[in-house]
Amino acid sequence: MNAILNAALNQIKDTSLILSEDYGDKRRFQKAINAILIPQRIVKGKISIKSKDGKKKVFQAFRIEHNDARGPFKGGIRFHPNVTEDEVRALATLMSLKCAVAGIPYGGAKGGVIVDPSKLTKEELKDLSIEYAKFITHYIGPWKDVPAPDVNTDGQIMSWMLEAYEKKTGMQAPATFTGKPLELGGSLGRTEATGQGGVYVLAAYAKAKKLNIKFSTVAVQGFGNVGFYFAKIAKELGFKVVAVSDSSSGIYNAKGLDIDVLSKFKDKGGAFKDYPLKVGMKLITNEELLELPVAVLVPAALENSITKENVVKIRAKVVFEMANGPTTSEADAYLFKKGIDVIPDILSNSGGVTVSYFEWVQNLYGYYWTKEKVNEELKKTITKAFGDIDAIKKSKKISYRRAANYLSIKRIIDAMILRGRV
Ligand code: NAD
Repeated sequence: MNAILNAALNQIKDTSLILSEDYGDKRRFQKAINAILIPQRIVKGKISIKSKDGKKKVFQAFRIEHNDARGPFKGGIRFHPNVTEDEVRALATLMSLKCAVAGIPYGGAKGGVIVDPSKLTKEELKDLSIEYAKFITHYIGPWKDVPAPDVNTDGQIMSWMLEAYEKKTGMQAPATFTGKPLELGGSLGRTEATGQGGVYVLAAYAKAKKLNIKFSTVAVQGFGNVGFYFAKIAKELGFKVVAVSDSSSGIYNAKGLDIDVLSKFKDKGGAFKDYPLKVGMKLITNEELLELPVAVLVPAALENSITKENVVKIRAKVVFEMANGPTTSEADAYLFKKGIDVIPDILSNSGGVTVSYFEWVQNLYGYYWTKEKVNEELKKTITKAFGDIDAIKKSKKISYRRAANYLSIKRIIDAMILRGRV
């Protein structure tokens, strides 16, 4: 079993220890936990495409549907050479928890193809997307399983997949995929949703902790979709963003950074290590960024960036996990002991899946919202999720992560019991 899957299953087992107190019928409770440890369906098989020279290329494909007690399965499709069945299973499991935490009516799923898309031509990528969509057509649909983009997949790929699905089923069904371009029923506000959602959680946290936003400094590791929008929107709210980084380097300015100017530089293909520094700015390493004495540290790049090796040097007051799985379990335990809050990924980066849910809602009733409406609904949904978790954290005296896991697993178990599945 790989490390990510092991960690996901351990979180469920660990949470079951505190959650069991809530259930009188311990046998039924244990049956529910056992069911959550295993996905409901694993679809796997080979798909193939023909390249221009007539050669057949074969790829291993997966779609894993974890638990649909709370609603249709939902989760991204990843095209990557390192995809494994265990990884897809872990990510599907975490999607069930994330949807339950956000309070949106979905279960979790994930898809993947073992492929290096950089080695494919555009035609081959299109053919692969079509073959994958055909491979999963039987299992997906607006009220069954709703895929979305993930690593190396995007709105164009969703468009090809939607066309393949609709051709095979003979009907228009835009609610089968989310993350679509606006022209095909995508939602306004989806591009920035994960960063925007994270800042709504940050604002709710700041209010609960009475943080003075104006005097709160922020460091963001990663300046892609998530890191950039988080930094930009946090700054607009009044936080002082003093450091950001990409894979080449970090940039620091104690007086605060101009996020839009940095973004323009990145848009031209620049790497931060080559940034023409202005007065007050300096280059720092990604390791140094993690060690800054800021109020809010935001890992928004990779998994496992805060480990037992570097956690002792962390001086932030709170860690906002915008990346998936950026804190190892040893590092997490250390931070809890030190009294440093960690806002877990399944809450802080749930803005993306929440706006995907809004896209699905808009597709189902064929009426489209303004960006203001999307953000208003996102704020409502995510602020409520934070409030629910904060209340559990306080009453049970546990970490935000344990509180989020507690809430999500409880919601899944309660839905399973109501359905009579256990
Ligand atoms: P992205 O590819 O747009 O950006 C990744 C950023 O991380 C880039 O700036 C890159 O330079 C930087 N980076 C890569 N390696 C690094 C390293 N070793 N050190 C420091 N920085 C490094 O990706 P994204 O969409 O912003 O996603 C970032 C994280 O957020 C991932 O963990 C992803 O799974 C998670 N996430 C994304 C979404 C979403 O809607 N995009 C939703 C939920 C979670």
